[in-house]
Amino acid sequence: MRIANVDGRCKLLVDGGQVDLEKASRGRFGPTLGEAYERFGELRGWAESVSSADEVWQADAAGPPAPAPRQVFAVALNYVDHAAESGLAAPDAPVIFTKFPTSLSGPVTDVVLPKGSVDWEVELVAVIGQTARSVSRSVAWDYVAGLTAGQDLSERELQLKGPAPQFSLAKSFQGFSPTGPSLVTPDELDSPEDLELGCELNGEQVQKARTSEMIFTIPQIIEHLSRIVTLLPGDVIFTGTPPGVGLGRTPPRFLCEGDRLGSWVEGIGNLTQTFVAGTDR
Ligand code: ZN
Repeated sequence: MRIANVDGRCKLLVDGGQVDLEKASRGRFGPTLGEAYERFGELRGWAESVSSADEVWQADAAGPPAPAPRQVFAVALNYVDHAAESGLAAPDAPVIFTKFPTSLSGPVTDVVLPKGSVDWEVELVAVIGQTARSVSRSVAWDYVAGLTAGQDLSERELQLKGPAPQFSLAKSFQGFSPTGPSLVTPDELDSPEDLELGCELNGEQVQKARTSEMIFTIPQIIEHLSRIVTLLPGDVIFTGTPPGVGLGRTPPRFLCEGDRLGSWVEGIGNLTQTFVAGTDR
C-alpha cells in the first residue's frame, strides 16, 4: 500500500492515480494522515478492496506523508564510511537526536538558506504504525507503517559549535526535513532492508549507497528507542545518512543560492529541493 498527503488529506495511491480515503471509505476513515496511522492495520485491510483511482496523483504537490508526528527521531553516524568522513569512530549503540516536527515538508520544495553552512544528508525514513514499547528487533517490522525518502538538511556551524553541539536545532530550520513523496508499506518492496539511496547536486551525484550498509537496522533502532520511549503511530525516524555529505569533502562544500538537490530511495521515489537566499545571508 502507498499513501500520500495531498492538501492535508490522506490519499491512497492505486492504479497510477489516487483515491481520497475519507470519501472512498464513506467516512469510515477520517481525512488526515494522522488518523490513518492511528488505525493503520484496519486501513491496510480496507485498502485491498480498492483497485481503481478517481483522482490524478501529482507527487510534486504532495505534503509530508507523516505530517504531524508527536516525535521525530534521527540516527547519527549510522553508516561506517559516514562516521569516518565525520572523523568519528563507528558507534556501538545507536546515536539519537531529534528533528522538530515543524521542520517537515513535502518532497518538492524551495528551502530558504539560513546564515551558516547548510549540508545535505539523504536518508531512508521509517514511520511508526502502532504504539511500540520495549519491542524486540525480531518483531519490530510489525510496528513500522512504512518507509519514505528524506533529507536531513543540516546547518553545520550551529550543529557543531559550542560546548554541547546543537544537532536538533541545527537540523530543524524551516523546510529542513523534506520527506515523501509517499509512504510505502514494506511488503511493496522486494528487499526493504536493502534499498539504494542517493542524492545529486545540480546533476552531480554526491551520495549513493544501500540501506543494507546501515550499522543499526530499522528493527535494531526500534528496539533501542522503544526501551526508553514509547513510539507512537505516525512518529518518524530518520535512519542516518551514507557518506558523501559536503562537510566530509576537501574542501568542504555547502549549499548555495540556486542549487538544486535531487534525492532518491529505490522503490519509494524522489525529492527535489531548490535553495534560495535568506534575508540574513
Ligand atoms: Zn542525518
